[in-house]
Amino acid sequence: QFPFGRRLPCDIYWHGVSFHDNNIFSGQVNKFPGMMETVRKITLSRAMRTMQDLFPLEYNFYPRSWILPEELPLFVAEVRMMKDRNPSWKPTFIVKPDGGCQGDGIYLIKDPSDIRLTGSIQSRPAVVQEYICKPLLVDKLKFDIRLYVLLKSLEPLEIYIAKDGLSRFCTEPYQEPTLKNLHQVFMHLTNYSLNIHSGNFIHSDSVNTGSKRTFSSILCRLSSRGADVKKLWSDIISLVIKTIIALTPELKVYYQSDIPAGKPGPTCFQILGFDILLMKNLKPILLEVNANPSMRIEHEQELSPGVFENVPSPVDEEVKVAVIRDTLRLVDPQKKKRKDAHLSFHTYLLIFPVQVQSLHAQIAGMKDKQHKHHSLKLSLKLKFYLKPGSSPSAEQAPGAGEELPEAALPSLCLKQVFPKYAKHFSYLRLVDRVAALFIRFLGVKGTTKLGPTGFRTFIRNCKLSNSNFSMAAVDILYIDITRRWNSMGIDHKESRMCLQAFVEAFFCLAQRKYKSLPLHDQVASLIELCECRLAALHGKRLVWGCG
Ligand code: ADP
Repeated sequence: QFPFGRRLPCDIYWHGVSFHDNNIFSGQVNKFPGMMETVRKITLSRAMRTMQDLFPLEYNFYPRSWILPEELPLFVAEVRMMKDRNPSWKPTFIVKPDGGCQGDGIYLIKDPSDIRLTGSIQSRPAVVQEYICKPLLVDKLKFDIRLYVLLKSLEPLEIYIAKDGLSRFCTEPYQEPTLKNLHQVFMHLTNYSLNIHSGNFIHSDSVNTGSKRTFSSILCRLSSRGADVKKLWSDIISLVIKTIIALTPELKVYYQSDIPAGKPGPTCFQILGFDILLMKNLKPILLEVNANPSMRIEHEQELSPGVFENVPSPVDEEVKVAVIRDTLRLVDPQKKKRKDAHLSFHTYLLIFPVQVQSLHAQIAGMKDKQHKHHSLKLSLKLKFYLKPGSSPSAEQAPGAGEELPEAALPSLCLKQVFPKYAKHFSYLRLVDRVAALFIRFLGVKGTTKLGPTGFRTFIRNCKLSNSNFSMAAVDILYIDITRRWNSMGIDHKESRMCLQAFVEAFFCLAQRKYKSLPLHDQVASLIELCECRLAALHGKRLVWGCG
């Protein structure tokens, strides 16, 4: 712990909320720059929309969404059109404020005219989304799944999924939404932070009862009812990989800005919380991605009015301890050296205060003896390395001389899904390649926005202008799209182009050039053309350079 600042470099930095320290030049940080911004409700919805435009069938696991206030007219018009087409369609929508969490400010509506646009909370930017009316119920209750996903590396992409997760239950029996029950949060919203206040909330003392259970206990139940659990898992894995593929372009732009290529810097990894709802037919639906999922393994219990005590939660412990333990095992920087040298090394771990307490609490709360044994070693090392002023040495550290053989640890709960299944998903990584073009023309290091000169250079180097599309038209395209995107953002004075605006401009260019093809073919063709022309230009420059 370095509450007053850090002097020595560390192997692993465990930040509490986000990547925020630009003075790290080596090691690994547990957060990616820009992850918080990338998974916010509006940004996520935009990224998913782009992928839905390109690959509608592959991305039908994310509910149709509109961004408020700017897409309100579009929302009204599209709903009217769908109702005209299908008069028996009686939809419900859920409005979620951007940047909100724990169900904060969320409400359900039956008609676009019910959107609350006045008042301070109501006028916040938000996402309005089709409400999934027929969720799978267990014990007549709606529930959602929290799955932990480790993004171990962005380039090359490496994704792991925890084999178990949490199922968080509503506390009122579910009924399909009607005007009468729309406001009943304990029936419609599965947030733990809301349902804990219901008189019906049951703190689980085992993993398969109560209002929070392990996902594996639900799978067991489904399997005993004859459900195809294997197919469900494979659908979930595919949802996770596709979602991360949708997020990587934006993440790469942030990454190069904070950790420019070629300069010394840390690498990053991050544990993400995926919130997934299962439909009655077992189709998984993505609700949201959490950049900073709670790793608490105890809950508060009110002993007497106003007096609270932290009590261990076996369900959280079962799932979360394994996720943290295995994340550390996977990112352990000394693992390779240890394997090579058969020597005993230690990992220096820098943990921010909240996590230290939480880790200690987790270790203290462990019931399972084997877990306790392994975690005790971790605890000893942590205590030792976190002791102020002490420099680590094998003599001083209790238990530090012995190394825990990998074979003695429980098998990994984190399962690699990418690159393992890369060949099934690589064709979806088109926007990644558009982002690579964007980054190439950014010019100034440390920026995330493209200036007009950069855009012109991109057009020129890729030879995209001609007699039908003059450089003046290029400038107009740049100004039009950039102005619209910036008017939607927080910084209205910003005049340069963000990645999403570039992607929109790129799609426009592709549609203009390859008129008769479907969108993803248009975009793929233009990417290939640009990559080819840039490679040729690079080749020429090399030849001239030599000559
Ligand atoms: P928050 O970040 O505030 O928790 P979520 O997007 O997770 O926001 O939504 C809160 C809860 O609302 C979810 O846990 C889920 O129970 C319910 N919910 C969210 N979106 C939908 C949807 N499209 N259909 C059905 N239920 C939803």
